[in-house]
Amino acid sequence: MSDRSIGLGIRRGLRLKCPQCGEGRLFRKFLKVADKCEACGGDNTIYPSDDAPPYLALILVGHLLMPFIVIMSRELDPPIWLMASIWLPLTLAFCVVTLPYMKGLVVGFAWATGVTHPDADT
Ligand SMILES: [Zn+2]
Repeated sequence: MSDRSIGLGIRRGLRLKCPQCGEGRLFRKFLKVADKCEACGGDNTIYPSDDAPPYLALILVGHLLMPFIVIMSRELDPPIWLMASIWLPLTLAFCVVTLPYMKGLVVGFAWATGVTHPDADT
């Protein structure tokens, strides 16, 4: 059995790799966890992520972009339509890009801590 440290699970998840072996891809589609790891054959669908990845993505993206939004608003005082047309698409794009990594992080954390879906066969 491999070492299941939280740091290892999170690192592998952030690299979008299978938390069990670190080799196979974690996802088969954008946010769809692969039923079977292509490298070790492990089933990573047993690890829940639920609503945690969107929360983490919003927290991360909010902290990254909010200083720039506040600075632009205070220094340039642009009209609201300009602020919205710049920051809304940028925020959405950052969230879409960040989401798989946050889901990988959560799946890796669940793997390391042994948290599985209640109906999962482990
Ligand atoms: Zn694997």
